[in-house]
Amino acid sequence: MNQYLADSRFTGLEPFPSRLWLSSPTMHGDEQRWVDDAIRTNWVSTVGANINEVEKLLAAYIGVRYAVALSAGTAALHLAMKLAGERLCGQPHAGHGALAGRRVFVSDTTFAATVNPVAYEGGEPVFIDTEYDTWNMDPCALEKAFELYPDTRLVVLAHLYGTPAKMDEIRATCKAHSALIVEDAAESLGATYKGQQTGTLGDYNCISFNGNKIITGSSGGMFLTDSKEDADKVRKWSTQSREAAPWYQHEELGYNYRMSNIIAGVVRGQIPYLDEHIAQKKAIYERYREGLRDLPVSMNPYDEENSVPNFWLSCLLINPEAMCPQVRSDSEALYIHEPGKSCPTEILEALAAFNAEGRPIWKPMHLQPIYRSHPFITASGNGRAGTNAYIPGASADIGADIFNRGLCLPSDNKMTPSDQDKVIEIIRRCFR
Ligand SMILES: *Cc1c(COP(=O)(O)O)cnc(C)c1O
Repeated sequence: MNQYLADSRFTGLEPFPSRLWLSSPTMHGDEQRWVDDAIRTNWVSTVGANINEVEKLLAAYIGVRYAVALSAGTAALHLAMKLAGERLCGQPHAGHGALAGRRVFVSDTTFAATVNPVAYEGGEPVFIDTEYDTWNMDPCALEKAFELYPDTRLVVLAHLYGTPAKMDEIRATCKAHSALIVEDAAESLGATYKGQQTGTLGDYNCISFNGNKIITGSSGGMFLTDSKEDADKVRKWSTQSREAAPWYQHEELGYNYRMSNIIAGVVRGQIPYLDEHIAQKKAIYERYREGLRDLPVSMNPYDEENSVPNFWLSCLLINPEAMCPQVRSDSEALYIHEPGKSCPTEILEALAAFNAEGRPIWKPMHLQPIYRSHPFITASGNGRAGTNAYIPGASADIGADIFNRGLCLPSDNKMTPSDQDKVIEIIRRCFR
């Protein structure tokens, strides 16, 4: 990494004295009060006032009737898959595999936690390519997938980096094919699409309070719904599926997925600051957009007419003609610098050398060894029909293109404007 500090392109720049994070938790003090309350009153388990309160506050904020607090966003997604699977079967499932034997259309460019819960329930993920306008599931590729697999009845989609997907198109296509939607709003809490909060746009909706999300409980997640029946089921499954009986009576498989009242105390302390965090993230995004304006790059885009992102992470995409040669194996990256050009590997390494944390774009699921044998559908058809090699400028495999040319920038809301200006300067020098 010291090669960057010694490189004459970076002379005059000093490393950040303390690490600049991608997106770290931001505590405000209220969290301590609610955690202390839980401990003082001895309500430290999976029942208590903090849990009740965060469920009430989040349901009201997002505009759903019911919110069920869980141990993680992944747990919420898992139980959402179970609900969807049972509804599609038309009957409860005693054991594993509510999605057994079913293809499920899933966002391709996302965190693995969007997809793994499909596999937990025995479903076969079919990956739907990404579009350039919002970096989310491409409605045209989804349309194509229904042509190829018309019997599919479930779609799982994420709103990447806090930017809402093209929901009107996706919902219309799902409706036409009688398919249910699981909405993964883990990254997009507080973002809206046509005035409606993400987390209300699917048949089953999930959010996360993981440590680097826009607000955090240190961990945790929620299932959101207007259906009392679904909320009750998720609550029951998440607490080991006890039946109403004087002893431990079980008719269904259970899970230990409920949020603890201590974690809920942290979430409770964070909720009043959600809007403030969004405003800070938006200011960061706009400062980057302004500061990088004259470079051959663009920011992660959104539909300015119809959506308001929560700006969780600021990302940039290098123009194709400004990409220097870069290759990535399954575990390593190499590049060759060329004047006037750069690449995500160079920028990420330079940022790290100056003690700042960036991150590659989520590596598309269809390129992951665990899912390499699964179908991948692009707008023009089966993305695996040709080759898996990256072909610059090719329209197919948009996810791989964004992965190759994009990166996530330090987006911590505690970063000062002058810290951020230095990040911008480091990026600028990469292109020299
Ligand atoms: C963070 C995240 C999750 C998982 O949430 P956890 O609370 O960490 O389990 C799921 N999907 C996406 C897109 C995420 O970013």
